[in-house]
Amino acid sequence: MTPERYRRLRAVLDKRQPDLTVLMENVHKPHNFSAILRTADAVGVFEAHAVNPTGGVPTFHDTSGGSEKWVYLRVHPNIEEAIAHLKERGFIVYAANLSDRALDYREVDYTRPSAVLLGAEKWGVSARAAELADADVIIPMMGMVQSLNVSVAAAVILFEAQRQRFEAGFYDRPRLDPETYRRTLFEWAYPREAEVYRRQGLPYPELDDGGGFA
Ligand code: SAM
Repeated sequence: MTPERYRRLRAVLDKRQPDLTVLMENVHKPHNFSAILRTADAVGVFEAHAVNPTGGVPTFHDTSGGSEKWVYLRVHPNIEEAIAHLKERGFIVYAANLSDRALDYREVDYTRPSAVLLGAEKWGVSARAAELADADVIIPMMGMVQSLNVSVAAAVILFEAQRQRFEAGFYDRPRLDPETYRRTLFEWAYPREAEVYRRQGLPYPELDDGGGFA
């Protein structure tokens, strides 16, 4: 671990937003899935969520740019449990959904704990998910085509969230709780060693100022 690398990991962790996330509902194409995770990383999402009834999650694609290493992914068994989990943690769930009741995505206050629900490439957000979400948001479409690619829609909404959070100073100081910060820093800096500690049920060691440990 070079000092530069350690500083870089810390600088990225300093900007992670524990209260901004995405929930991907049956986004099954690996390049879309990976592109959404890459955008999530860019805006500081700490943990992303997915539901995929066909089993597992799509394999990662080159479009991820390696972001699967930096954004934790929690896979839920079904959409009900995914949304319940987010709501229990205080998230407001916004379904990116092309419905009549949808708000313009720029009208939402994303400085509140926000989860952006994205639907399947072909079918969109399911009726059940839309029912459980707190509100629908839409990116106004002025052309001939009805919808955007799902990863493009994710980027448009997440970067609006980033803009609002930037203006509110959310990237100026670390927002992860100290224990999560410490744990994640060790996992990012020493992924192989972290796995060994986890397997043995041992706590991670403290890192010194240069990112080393005894
Ligand atoms: N026929 C589908 C429908 O009616 O929802 C289109 C699905 S679209 C290709 C895939 C996903 O991208 C949608 O479920 C939604 O989450 C997101 N999306 C695409 N365009 C959008 C827009 N203009 N506003 C909000 N979300 C959009």
